[in-house]
Amino acid sequence: MTSMSGSRAPEPWLVDAHDALLLDLDGVVYVGPDPVDHAVEVLAEVRRRGVVTAYVTNNAARPPSVVAEHLRSFGLEVADHDVVTSAQAGAREVASRVPAGSRVLCVGGPGVVEAVRARGLEPVTSADEAPVAVLMGYGPDVSWRHLAEASYAVAAGAVFVATNADLSIPTDRGIAPGNGTLVAAVTATTGRSPFMAGKPCAPLIRESVERVGSRRPLVVGDRLDTDIEAGHVSGIDSLLVMTGVTGVADLLAAPVNRRPSYIAADLRGLLRPVSDVRLPGDDRLVTGDRLVALRRACRRAWDAADSGELSPVTAAELEGLTADVSAALRA
Ligand SMILES: [Mg+2]
Repeated sequence: MTSMSGSRAPEPWLVDAHDALLLDLDGVVYVGPDPVDHAVEVLAEVRRRGVVTAYVTNNAARPPSVVAEHLRSFGLEVADHDVVTSAQAGAREVASRVPAGSRVLCVGGPGVVEAVRARGLEPVTSADEAPVAVLMGYGPDVSWRHLAEASYAVAAGAVFVATNADLSIPTDRGIAPGNGTLVAAVTATTGRSPFMAGKPCAPLIRESVERVGSRRPLVVGDRLDTDIEAGHVSGIDSLLVMTGVTGVADLLAAPVNRRPSYIAADLRGLLRPVSDVRLPGDDRLVTGDRLVALRRACRRAWDAADSGELSPVTAAELEGLTADVSAALRA
C-alpha cells in the first residue's frame, strides 16, 4: 500500500500499469462527430509509451474501416484492425455455432453484413432463404419487415445472436431506440432470447483482448452498465471517465458489479499516478487530484450501500462534487 510519508517513490502512471487500453468510443474518444477534449493528445502519448489502443464499440452499424477513418480524421494513428465492433464479436459467436459457409439472416447496418461475410458466412435478408442463424444489430434503416424476417427465422429454430442489448442510443434529436429494443420485439414475438455479444457480455471484450494479445488490459468507458460491468464480467480493471453519460449521482449509486476500479474526469487520468485515480478513495490518502473528494464520497456511499444503509452523501455535497467534476473537465 502507499505510504503516507512525503518521500514515497514516484508511482507509475495508470497507463504504464497496463499493456493495452480497450477504449469505448462515444463519450470517451468522441461525442458525435467531434473529439472529446484532450483525447487526441492523451492517446498519442499512450502510443508513444508503447501501450496498445483498441477501440471497442457496441455500435454495430458502422464497419471498422469507417470508424477508423473517423478517428484518423482527428489526427489519431488508427488502423482498421484497431477497431473492434460488437458486429464482429457477434459474427464470431455465430461462426462458432454453425457450419462454415452457412446462411445468416442479417438485421442492421452494413457493419453487420460485413462482419458476417468476414467470418466466411453468407449474409441473407429473408427467412425464406433458410438461414441457420440470425445476427441482429442496430441500423438506422431497420424496419418492421426486418424484425418480421428475424422472427420467422428464430421461430423456425435459427441460432439467435444479437450484437448488444443497449435499450437506447443518443442522437442529436434526443434518445432513440437502441438494438436492445429491436431485439426485445423479436423476443416478445418468438419467446426466444439471443446470445449477446457486446458489452457488458464477455464476447466483445474477449475478441478485443485476443486481437491485441493483451495480458494486462484496462477497460476505459463512460457507461457503468456496459463498459464498467464488462470489466467485472471479464475480470479486467476499468477506468470511468466523466465525459459521457455517467453523472456523479449514478457513480455513487453504482451496485458492486458496476463500480469502476479508477475514475478520472477525462482521459488525462491515464497519465496520473495510480493512487490519484484509484477507487474507492481512501480518507487517509492526500493527493493533489481534483476528484479526491468524489473518490472519498464513493467509499462512504458504497460502504453504506454494502451495509444496507442509505447514502450518507447529502444533496448539497452532491452539488459540490458535480461542480468538482465540471472544474476538472475545464482545467
Ligand atoms: Mg460510451
